[in-house]
Amino acid sequence: MADILLSVDKIGKTFGGLSAISGLSFQVRERSIKAVIGPNGAGKSTLFNLITGIDSPTAGRVRLGDRDVTGMKPNRRAAMGMGRTFQTPQIFGEMSVLENVQVGYHLRGRATWLDALLYTNRSRREERETHERCLAILEKVGLSDKANEAAGDLACGELKLLEMARALALGPRLLLLDEFAAGLTRGESEHMMGLVREIRDDGVTVLLVEHDMHLVMNLSDEIVVLNFGEKIAEGTPEEIQRNDKVIEVYLGAEV
Ligand code: ADP
Ligand code: MG
Repeated sequence: MADILLSVDKIGKTFGGLSAISGLSFQVRERSIKAVIGPNGAGKSTLFNLITGIDSPTAGRVRLGDRDVTGMKPNRRAAMGMGRTFQTPQIFGEMSVLENVQVGYHLRGRATWLDALLYTNRSRREERETHERCLAILEKVGLSDKANEAAGDLACGELKLLEMARALALGPRLLLLDEFAAGLTRGESEHMMGLVREIRDDGVTVLLVEHDMHLVMNLSDEIVVLNFGEKIAEGTPEEIQRNDKVIEVYLGAEV
């Protein structure tokens, strides 16, 4: 099982009496792209919170490589190579695009966004040392010409790219993408898809939650389908598209 990077083992989460996730197990192979899909309320965001450590599970384990990270705080998981983007971009609007990426870089091993922010302001010298690296990341996502603009002036699609750049600055082994294409035009979402493939080809493993089925079916090596907090199917895009259970509860007549 050496090539499994993320392993979710019989994980469960209840809120009060409600079971948001129950008995969920799946694995993500190293250098693969896996998608989690399911109707609203299926438990996708809860699952991401359990994997990243924002929430703790009421049952089960989460493993990153051969490390059990179940009890670890989000910043420790981040330092171990777990990067993420947020559904709503978490951007410092007053800071430049480049500085926002540098925050991601300094966040490696740091406790909070605030620590990283203060650190950035305190240590200009260190900032220069990471300058080149962060510029290269902006180059990769296609934002280098905006490096010195205020992040608050970026358009929606550019903010998503910046969010991606900041997650990459962490140097992740595993990248969790939460609705990274939401609100993008078709062209922007195609660009994003190409970018995610490149990132995977660079050796990063990707787990994503996304509503855009065109994107999910074209990008993913494997898909996990959730319904009411349980896994109802798992397989390649082809297998998922012809799975009767999936068609019944989720994809409906579209597919
Ligand atoms: P999805 O992201 O797939 O739409 P969620 O993970 O947000 O689903 O929600 C799964 C279920 O858990 C829903 O019934 C939701 O109302 C519930 N839930 C999620 N977070 C909380 C919370 N913090 N407190 C109580 N219930 C929650
Ligand atoms: Mg959600």
